[in-house]
Amino acid sequence: MADAATHPSSTAAAPTAEPTLPSDAYLRELDQAREAAMRTTRHPGSEHQGAPTALHDQLESAVAEDAEEMVALMHDLAAHPEVAFEERRSARALADFLIAHGIDAQVGVHGLETSVRAEIGAGADGAPTLAILAEYDALPVVGHGCGHNVIAVMGLGAFLALARLAAEDPAAVPGRVVFLGTPAEEGHTGKEFMAREGALEDIDAAVMAHPYGYDLADQAWLGRRTLTVEFHGRTAHASAQPFMGRNALDAASLMYQGIGLMRQQTPPSDRVHAVIREGGDRASVIPDLARLDLYVRSLAPSTLRDLSARVEEVARGAAMMAGCGLTLTWDEHPPSLPVRTNEALTGRWVQAQRRRGRDPLPRGVVSETLAASTDFGNVSYRVPGMHPVIRIAPAETALHTREFAAAAVSPEAASAAADGAYGLAATVLDVLHDPALAAAVAEEFAQAGGAIDVPRFFD
Ligand SMILES: [Zn+2]
Ligand SMILES: [Zn+2]
Repeated sequence: MADAATHPSSTAAAPTAEPTLPSDAYLRELDQAREAAMRTTRHPGSEHQGAPTALHDQLESAVAEDAEEMVALMHDLAAHPEVAFEERRSARALADFLIAHGIDAQVGVHGLETSVRAEIGAGADGAPTLAILAEYDALPVVGHGCGHNVIAVMGLGAFLALARLAAEDPAAVPGRVVFLGTPAEEGHTGKEFMAREGALEDIDAAVMAHPYGYDLADQAWLGRRTLTVEFHGRTAHASAQPFMGRNALDAASLMYQGIGLMRQQTPPSDRVHAVIREGGDRASVIPDLARLDLYVRSLAPSTLRDLSARVEEVARGAAMMAGCGLTLTWDEHPPSLPVRTNEALTGRWVQAQRRRGRDPLPRGVVSETLAASTDFGNVSYRVPGMHPVIRIAPAETALHTREFAAAAVSPEAASAAADGAYGLAATVLDVLHDPALAAAVAEEFAQAGGAIDVPRFFD
């Protein structure tokens, strides 16, 4: 007879009601690699001149004038978190702030009730038009756990500072600057809806920044699509006549396994995650309907398209094996594309951040395996764009947590609000004043493939 003491697998490892604790060894390995890279890697900055130094001095003063009010607004938004498409109070607060400063602002433009738009400047014929984007949607449970209250005031502060410069001397802002309040980033693609309704028409470049645990000029953001798969079977008595059934849950189970195996043969940044939402009601009835919801993510539009096709093949194979029919519903909400970063723009952001005592790291220093998605990706494949991140929290603080929500109202967030506002405004000002930089921004975008037809890309 086996002795439990010498065969621990018999009873000693029996599961309890508690899950096992994941090891953080991999995260610690990544931390070590990042720290080593931080010691040796520096962003190259920018070879362009940008706007004259005297104007940057004025811009910093202009940012400082609104800084206190911006921090108050940052706290106010955090105290009244509103989820995607319901940001009525937040949108109103931003618009009212602009109106109080003598700037005409509209709420509910470009097809979304909770969007905001304002603009300043005109400039000569051919002068560029730049957009500054601001998010302000929150999350269920963790409120501003993604720090969009900080994004809102970075964007608004940047726009107001440029408006102050233009009010003093119109020649200081030789072009048009559009402020776009963009709702519904979390779990939706608010910016895609707005882009389809003309929000980016005549825009030469778009900028925004996101709070984070590091200062990074650039970071990987994965493209993301959603897929719902329904398997259609035939009900039968699971004991008396199972041979007359076609089991939809079998098909769902086969697909779930198939995705799991397929992952071993995909690029490391590809992500597929699924849940089985429906798979029958009673064990004695063979289920005739099973449903999976999936997210499919990848690092480039083309690889996202490839991965989508492979996931579809797995679904078809599973349906055939179980003798089931299937329906595939892609992208109930519009997909997010990855972010295509414009280096000419981020170079100027880095220069501006250095002036504020920050030193944003280049892409690759923080592992690309720790990547999420953003609807700014859809913007960045229509016009040149940048989406740097700015530090408001210790490196280990993950987005979408209560800890990050606390960081989003911390003194670090207040200084990031001012540094970020200056960085966005400085980048815009540089492009407006430096035709060589403006040309480099456009040239880089064209070289990378130019604008793509986002709504039709996956057809
Ligand atoms: Zn988020
Ligand atoms: Zn976010």
